[in-house]
Amino acid sequence: FQCRGYATPQGDKVAKFKGQKGSDGKYTVTLIEGDGIGPEIAQSVKDIYSAANVPIKWEPVDVTPTLKDGKTVIPDEAIDSVTRNYVALKGPLATPVGKGHVSLNLTLRRTFNLFANVRPCKSIAGYKTPYDNVNTVLIRENTEGEYSGIEHVVVDGVVQSIKLITREASERVLRFAFQYAQDVGKPKVRVVHKATIMKMSDGLFLNLARDIAKEYPNVEFDAEMLDNTCLKMVTDPLPYNDKVLVMPNLYGDILSDLCAGLIGGLGLTPSGNIGDECSIFEAVHGSAPDIAGKGLANPTALLLSSIMMLQHMGLTQHASNIEQAIFATLAEGKALTGDLGGKAKTHEYAAAIISKL
Ligand code: NAD
Repeated sequence: FQCRGYATPQGDKVAKFKGQKGSDGKYTVTLIEGDGIGPEIAQSVKDIYSAANVPIKWEPVDVTPTLKDGKTVIPDEAIDSVTRNYVALKGPLATPVGKGHVSLNLTLRRTFNLFANVRPCKSIAGYKTPYDNVNTVLIRENTEGEYSGIEHVVVDGVVQSIKLITREASERVLRFAFQYAQDVGKPKVRVVHKATIMKMSDGLFLNLARDIAKEYPNVEFDAEMLDNTCLKMVTDPLPYNDKVLVMPNLYGDILSDLCAGLIGGLGLTPSGNIGDECSIFEAVHGSAPDIAGKGLANPTALLLSSIMMLQHMGLTQHASNIEQAIFATLAEGKALTGDLGGKAKTHEYAAAIISKL
């Protein structure tokens, strides 16, 4: 689940962006437990980290939205904490449908300019899915596209949502994807698009990708239409193993859930939101209100997101210790949560991982 930032300034700042180490040798990391199952799965992470002696002090923050100058905003304390610590782990945040406050997830991504959403999609040994050995990576543009939040009523019964694609945001995520491929040893970058239909917006994204590919002569580049990618991904995902897929925001959101289905579902899929100055790691899934408070949630996705976070911070030995304990527990199959066909409660699964550290 390797996830490395790029374009971090050289010198002292690099270390800072990858975490803030105190005089006691411990890093302070902002923890946003989130809604629904968030606190339950965050508890598993805290228990496992404490058992594994990871040198991290959690700084829990509340992101319940508040009103400021008539706008719904994330509390200043939460913003200050992420700004100070450079790294955060985040549980799911619920978003009201069709009304109410704006998505706090989008607000966090925009506030911290977390322009690249990295979603590794890797089969888990021992957990049976239709395909074994899936191992691809999706990188989703995270700040604009259809998720720009620009919507208005034209006349009664007609609304417009603007898809915004800019050279600046596209170039930075594309360059991130090429650099990421080079760093993790994936030989190919593939742009996923619909430039046949959205000739100007996706066309700009695709043309910029062609330009940036020239900066990375060691990484092969090609492009594929989104519908074609979906078809091929569900019929034979293995040819995507040597690729990093990069795409505009909405396509990445949907395609990454499709990929999550290939490896066993949302309970297993991690992600990192990477910016130039700070990064927030979070599970791909939502707050799962249907199972919240029942101790049934699978904490693996948040745990694997935290593994990406540890790798990002350079705490690689701790990352691999915990990762191995998770995979061993899943492969053994004795303490699986309900979504994976088992009967274990969240804390029983966490205890099984701890016993394997
Ligand atoms: P969801 O991901 O919360 O749930 C979809 C299904 O997957 C449910 O049946 C749920 O029980 C199951 N599931 C999800 N995570 C699981 C886990 N860890 N263990 C076991 N089962 C799990 O999607 P939804 O129901 O569409 O969304 C619920 C809320 O979450 C909405 O308010 C949505 O806006 C929000 N959401 C937040 C994020 C985020 O914070 N990044 C992402 C997606 C959805």
